[in-house]
Amino acid sequence: LCLLDNKKQNLTIKQLIGDKEDLNEETAIPLTEKGRVCWVFKHKEVCIIPDLAHSPHPIPRYFVHENPKHSFRSFLATPIVVEHQPIGVLCLESKNRNEYTNKDKERITTVMNIAAMALSKAQLYQKMENLATIDGLTNLANHRHFQDILAAEIRRAKRHNLSLALLMIDIDYFKQINDNYGHQMGDYILAEIGDVFKQNIREVDFVARYGGEEFAIILVGKKPLNYYITAERIRQAVANHKFVYQKQTIPITISIGISLYPNDTENQSELIRLADQALYLAKNSGRDCIKTCKDLQITH
Ligand code: GH3
Ligand code: MG
Ligand code: MG
Repeated sequence: LCLLDNKKQNLTIKQLIGDKEDLNEETAIPLTEKGRVCWVFKHKEVCIIPDLAHSPHPIPRYFVHENPKHSFRSFLATPIVVEHQPIGVLCLESKNRNEYTNKDKERITTVMNIAAMALSKAQLYQKMENLATIDGLTNLANHRHFQDILAAEIRRAKRHNLSLALLMIDIDYFKQINDNYGHQMGDYILAEIGDVFKQNIREVDFVARYGGEEFAIILVGKKPLNYYITAERIRQAVANHKFVYQKQTIPITISIGISLYPNDTENQSELIRLADQALYLAKNSGRDCIKTCKDLQITH
């Protein structure tokens, strides 16, 4: 079963049943490929080949440069179409000649029409779920999703006796960037900085757009000193990153406030409030720096 990845403009093999031979799940077939599968997708037509060894027009199955040494002899591929738009292809291959008949073609078309409706519903649901949880500009989790994840992470940390750190991040002098270079430049920086954050945390950590030009990162399962080292790496990564938009390079710095679970508090909103206070202190200490709750105690 191959499904369209609209963004990447390819067909991705989502499920392989039976003898896999030269194929793998998650293999991507660019729509520009000249194989039969892309043909079926583009033409929205069923294709039956009774004998692959004696095909009058030998077209490759998936890729032009694929390994021809597979043992399949007959082939049936049917497009999956929703509202006249193809969304995927179902391929059947057999090691016997003449495996698929016109009757099979009819049956499979009926089944695929039903499957297409179910698939498109599932994809629509996924899209709506993404819209509700993902910020459109940065592709990061939005504020609401962040609160849910933080609650879940605190519960998990409690259960397993783990620690976590909350980093509240705010871009320095961001208003000036909007004022001097325009909001489009500002938007570009917000999107780009999200990528910088993602590149500097692990899979298990979590980054969200908290709001405006403020971001939140949840780091899990480290010693307090290591949280600080990661935060410092993130701060430096932003300061060293080249933000280039329409040939203009803009230096960007961020300020970071850190609070720790359970060291500073075990309460979610208190964790956010403390990280915010530490961030405020970082701003008042000249920006482009990191402050923790320990620093708050020293100043009070
Ligand atoms: P500081 O160093 O104290 O944080 O200064 P600042 O200028 O960054 O702080 P301030 O909170 O005054 O300004 C934040 C600005 O962020 C104001 C607003 O115009 C801008 N901003 C918030 N959301 C967006 C957005 O989605 N796109 C753009 N382009 N700008 C945004
Ligand atoms: Mg701000
Ligand atoms: Mg700011």
